Amino acid sequence: MKKILVYLDGNHPNDLSLLGACELMVEDQAFEITAIGTQDNVPNTNSVYDHVLIIDKCNINSYDTLNLTELLKEVHFQHHYDIILFSASPIGRILAPRLAIALHTGLVADVTDIKSNQGVIEMIRPAYSGKLMAQIVSIGEGPIMMSVRPGVFQSTQTQIKQTSITYLEDYQPKPSKIRLLETHAKAKTEDIRDSKVIISGGAGIIDNFNRLQDLATILNAQVAASRKVVDAGIVKRKIQVGQSGKTVSPKLYIALGISGSVQHIEGLKNVETIIAVNTDKLAPICSLAQIVVEGDALEFIEKLIHKIEQNSLNF
Ligand SMILES: Cc1cc2nc3c(=O)[nH]c(=O)nc-3n(C[C@H](O)[C@H](O)[C@H](O)COP(=O)(O)OP(=O)(O)OC[C@H]3O[C@@H](n4cnc5c(N)ncnc54)[C@H](O)[C@@H]3O)c2cc1C
Repeated sequence: MKKILVYLDGNHPNDLSLLGACELMVEDQAFEITAIGTQDNVPNTNSVYDHVLIIDKCNINSYDTLNLTELLKEVHFQHHYDIILFSASPIGRILAPRLAIALHTGLVADVTDIKSNQGVIEMIRPAYSGKLMAQIVSIGEGPIMMSVRPGVFQSTQTQIKQTSITYLEDYQPKPSKIRLLETHAKAKTEDIRDSKVIISGGAGIIDNFNRLQDLATILNAQVAASRKVVDAGIVKRKIQVGQSGKTVSPKLYIALGISGSVQHIEGLKNVETIIAVNTDKLAPICSLAQIVVEGDALEFIEKLIHKIEQNSLNF
């Protein structure tokens, strides 16, 4: 029985990427997953994991990564996990390497794909600023540790589990070396990874990129872009899809004037339907798309908006 620990930091509360990653790693072997985090971070995951460890009573602040590392180390020494997973979120990117050092094991950060072959787990991640994909195999005694990009993996689990919930109390935090000076409330910004419908534009619509937002508003969607549009300074990098951008898994991805380079496609995982609008029907994105519209992207946007408004369709 493989024992897996996942740390839930609440960055993407409904994201089951970590669970999806676990399923890929164990293949057909039996496994048991323990999730650890604060009460706020786990409410939607009860009945998904076998065990949940709630850390609220340990009196550790969410930013106190030193005490969190010590706590996770103690939990590991009690239960001896085979695999430990973090989300590649800001807090996960701090905690995961600290814990790997404390456990004298390696860490594969920012994993975007996993292959398991007869018990050998191959973790795949971009290297050298995304110029190549590294395939990394873990050898040695320690637990396999990795951080996983949010939204990349999807769980296929359908069964509802009888989750056991334990409130950890015994841990005595050390006097924290991290001092909170002041807090600034972060404005809630939309994240393309949470969107079910994405209207994405590339070089083929760069001169009229603002029209994408009009269509997105009607479709209750979010706007994304290829790197060419981002590099041209038209939009911010946080909406870039691809290897050096974000990985998205919407139900519908409308790619307007995007050629579909390997680096862009790398950011599309488990997308249900892709509609490609391109003047070149031989562009690589068209072979991936379920629906191809051969033609001008701006004309497509104008006609679709007109059609929706004319028919007063609600989305
Ligand atoms: C290390 C590295 C990392 C990278 N990471 C990323 C990444 O994360 N994301 C990413 O997107 N790219 C990334 N790239 C860049 C990538 O290689 C491509 O250059 C980029 O994706 C191309 O963007 P594009 O499809 O918008 O432009 P192009 O490749 O120029 O394609 C434009 C498309 O628009 C079509 N077109 C032209 N006019 C029209 C029109 N009027 N109407 C409709 N269609 C039209 C054309 O036929 C063409 O298919 C990376 C590159 C490297 C080297």
